[in-house]
Parts: sequence; structure tokens; C-alpha cells
Amino acid sequence: MEKKNTWETYSAKQIKSCDKLAKEYRQFLDNGKTERECNDTIVNTIEKEGYRQLQECIEKGIALKQGDKVYSVWMNKSIVMFQIGEEPISEGMNILGAHIDSPRLDVKQNPLYEDNGFAYFDTHYYGGVKKYQWVTIPLAIHGVVVRKDGTTVEINIGENADDPVFFISDLLIHLAQEQLEKKAVKVIEGEALDLIVGNKPLIFKPDKDGDKDSKAKDAVKSGVLDILKEQYEIEEEDFISAELEIVPAGCAREAGFDRSMILAYGQDDRVCAFTSLRAMLDIGEIKRTACCILVDKEEIGSVGATGMQSRFFENTVAEVMNLCGEYTELNLRRALSRSCMLSSDVSSAYDPSYAGSFDRKNVAYLGCGMVLNKFTGSRGKSGSNDANAEYLAHIRQIFDKKKINFQTAELGKVDLGGGGTIAYILALYGMNVIDSGVAVLNMHAPWEATSKADVYEVYRGYMAFMEEASL
Ligand code: MN
Ligand code: MN
Repeated sequence: MEKKNTWETYSAKQIKSCDKLAKEYRQFLDNGKTERECNDTIVNTIEKEGYRQLQECIEKGIALKQGDKVYSVWMNKSIVMFQIGEEPISEGMNILGAHIDSPRLDVKQNPLYEDNGFAYFDTHYYGGVKKYQWVTIPLAIHGVVVRKDGTTVEINIGENADDPVFFISDLLIHLAQEQLEKKAVKVIEGEALDLIVGNKPLIFKPDKDGDKDSKAKDAVKSGVLDILKEQYEIEEEDFISAELEIVPAGCAREAGFDRSMILAYGQDDRVCAFTSLRAMLDIGEIKRTACCILVDKEEIGSVGATGMQSRFFENTVAEVMNLCGEYTELNLRRALSRSCMLSSDVSSAYDPSYAGSFDRKNVAYLGCGMVLNKFTGSRGKSGSNDANAEYLAHIRQIFDKKKINFQTAELGKVDLGGGGTIAYILALYGMNVIDSGVAVLNMHAPWEATSKADVYEVYRGYMAFMEEASL
């Protein structure tokens, strides 16, 4: 079976729409480099499009009817949206799901120390990273510090042109003979990923004549604390209740002379989150209730209260059904088991420079459209949701009807490794779920690449799915 390059199928008008969407996508990436920021960006967008807070509807006892749009946020990190359809929810929903957390370096709870004139933040990496990729690049700090009194300080340093950035050092090549003999996994070890945050000692000015200028112990660290106190009103102890994420500094960029690609941090999986969200906002009247869920913690196993394994989603569906006047325990179970889902996540794109790692017949190609992964998982399909052939046939039929360019793929060669998604968790309800999404080159690297054509095609595919799926 041949793969079709999407660019070759586009009219001039489609290329224009594709470029417009890509621009909006880059802004989405720049506005949300953490799950919290991404969540805030989404809420700002959907409130303008007529979405109401579910909690508010519950408190006011507002009944929901066809065409109504509601959303619910969980702990500022996960969000689920609904557009009520014509049919009862117990007949099943069409669900788009993706995750909004990305691999990064988290700041530890006791992070700040000084060593030989440098102040450092100690970090703990989050998700799968090649540690050696994170040294000597400009890094930004994003996140929140919650003070003991419950007030929150939002931190975002390193993105504006006049902001400072931060970095992790690496040994100079001139002395690296021994380092370069090491295995890649050992070249930079986890505990060596300490962020340089300062180099200037704090000097105390003399109070009276005759006193000399004096330096505090750990004067560089003191200097950093002084700045944190002055600019953000935070103390060292406040790191205990902080969530600070170190991410590559800088904006999403167009890539290539032809500007056909996007190079940016965090495209796994905000590329699917963005396209799912955009599709959710652009669907018209629908038969089946449409749902879009964008969750946290996928990169560490979908755990925690804001991960897909949390009951948050199920509880929210129950609340929505209640406001639609159709909640019973049985109806809830029916709604979930009769739903269809596209569990969207990125897939690996074939990389000619590492040809040996892929099965060329069963891998996604950048620019060749939406990716359908019947299964993910590692080695003998372990940990995967293996979608049913019947469901695949249904999806194929929809995509052919709506002229969506798609390709089927596996991550790479069978024995080499693998990865998981949120698909298997929703499949626990007995619903039809398939992994789908966008192909990414250098997945999980500080800068990942996607094709604009794929972003556009996936958006179109999600629209088609939301309007047509019913199995
Ligand atoms: Mn992912
Ligand atoms: Mn990932």
C-alpha cells in the first residue's frame, strides 16, 4: 500500500487554510508550555466560544439541552468539554482525547544551592528524556509557587527577549576524552541536570564608616533569594509548595525553506490537543454528544488525580448526564460503553537518518496525513489498546467519505521498544478506542518537528470523526 503525500492533494485554498491553522497552532504552543498554562489558554479560548463552566451550571441547577456547551477543569491541569447532541448521552458520545503534559525537567522541592560561585536549581526529569539533549541550550522556568497562605505566584521567566534564560553546563570538548567514551545514557546523568541560576554574590553595604563590605555565606545563593524575594515575594521555604518546570526557552518556529514544518517544544502531545480543541470548536450541530478531554500526566503513566486514570472524567460525565435529566448508574455505564473515541497522541515519523529503527512499510511519514495506530505498546503489544477491526473499518469509511488522508503505523521495529497512550484506560469502559494523531520527528527532544499538512489533516479528520462516528 502506498502512502500519499498530503501536500500533493491540496488546492491553493487548502494550503492557505493549512497555513492559517499552523499559525494559530504556534500561538497555542507559545501560550501554553506547561499543562497549567495550556489549560488556562484553552479556558480563555472556549469561554469566548460560548462554553460555560459545568460547576456553575450545577450550582445554579441549569438544565442542559441540545447545543449547550460546558466544560470542567480539574486542579488547573486537566479539562473536559462537552457539546450536547441531539441523541441522549446514554446512546454514546464521540470523544477526542489527548494529553497536555510534556517531558521536561521539574525543580526539586529543596532545589537551591551554591557550589563554587554558582547558584543552582536541582532538578528531577519528568517523562522520557535523552538527558544529554538538555545541556547548553537556553531554558525557561514556568510554573507556580503556592505560598503557605494559599496565594499563588505564577512564574514565567525566559520567554521574552529581555528576560534572562537559564542553562545546564556541559564539559568542554577539549577535556571530554573520557566523557565521550561513556554510553549515551551515562554521558549526562540525572543528578548532573542542575540548572545554573546565578553567579553574582550578594554584597552587604557597610552601615557605618569603618565597616568593610561583607559577603554572606553562600553569597550567590543569597543574591538569588534576594531577587526572588524582591520580584516575587517568595522565600526559600516556598519551594516546598512549588511546581516549577524547566522547558526550552523560545517560540515555536516554522522550519525549512518551504516553511512546511513546525519546530517547537512540547508538540507531544499539544499538537493533538490543539487539533482536537479546534475541531471541537468548529463542529456544527451534531447527533451524538461531542466530548473533548485533554489530560495531564500521560508522560508518567496517566497517574494522579489529573491523569487519565483519575475518576474525574467519569464523574464529570455523570454530572453532565444529570443536568441533561438522564443520569442513572446504568445510563452512565451505557454512555461510556457505547462511545467512540479517537485517543490522540503523537506517533514516530520515519527518520531516514535512523532508517534501521523503523519498519518502512508500517511507520508514519511526515506529511502523509493523520496516523492511525491500531495498537501501541512495547514488544508483543504489551500495554496497548488493540483497536477492533470493525472499528477501524468504520473509521476508514468515514475518512474515505470525507477525503481525509490517513496512514496506518507502528512506532518502530517490533523488538526495539515502544510507548503507551491513554487509549487503554478509556477502553476499560468497553468503548471503541483507537490511537490516532500526528507524526513527529525527534519526539521527546527539546525541539520536536511536525508537518503543517499533518496538523491540518488531523484537524479535518477529527471534525469528520465527531460528525460521523456512530458504532
Ligand atoms: Mn504523548
Ligand atoms: Mn510522550
